[in-house]
Order: sequence, then C-alpha cells, then structure tokens
Amino acid sequence: MSRQLMLRRLEKRSLPAAHFVNGIQGKIWTGAMTSQKYGVVYFKGRKYLVHRVSAWISLDFDLNSELCICHKCDVPLCWEPSHLFVGSNMDNYLDSCKKGRAALYPKGWEL
Ligand SMILES: [Zn+2]
Repeated sequence: MSRQLMLRRLEKRSLPAAHFVNGIQGKIWTGAMTSQKYGVVYFKGRKYLVHRVSAWISLDFDLNSELCICHKCDVPLCWEPSHLFVGSNMDNYLDSCKKGRAALYPKGWEL
C-alpha cells in the first residue's frame, strides 16, 4: 500500500482536534484503539499504531524501528505529523518508553 493510500485511509476516519501545536490543528483518529487510547490500524496484514504510521507517511519513519514516536500535544489519538517527533538521543526517555511499551504493546503487536 502506498503512503498516499494509507494517508487517505487515516483521513477518512479522523476528525479535526480541539488542540493546536504552533498554530497547527491536530487530527484525531476515530477508529479502533488500544486500551491506552492509541489509534490502531491494519496495514500489510499487521496491526500498527496510527501515530507511527503517520510518522512513516510524513516523516519517513521506519515502522520497524525501536525508536518511539512521541506526541508534542500529549494526545495519544492525534496523528498530525507536526505534533509528532521521533524519540531519540534521550536515554531517560527511551528507558521510560521501553517500560511503557511492555504495557502498551501486547505480544505479537507491531511497534
Ligand atoms: Zn496533536
């Protein structure tokens, strides 16, 4: 599936958010979600988190990367690319990210 098709899929199931970062409005996923309120989407037969897919589309993020995609807006369901950043070079952050990941991602899930 191309990035463009995937973006269309995300857009179709999203609503404008009530929050802004640097004047840019967020996008809220309205489809399936995890119990931690992260958006979930099926892609190439696997489950992915919507904000990670968004980072793949817009930021060329590697979906298989160990790195985390973090929210500047602290809204887990938001996938507006300008509200996201790749969590790297922050040992403390990565540490807590890994700990959180254990709870966030049940076995067999793609990160
Ligand atoms: Zn946001």
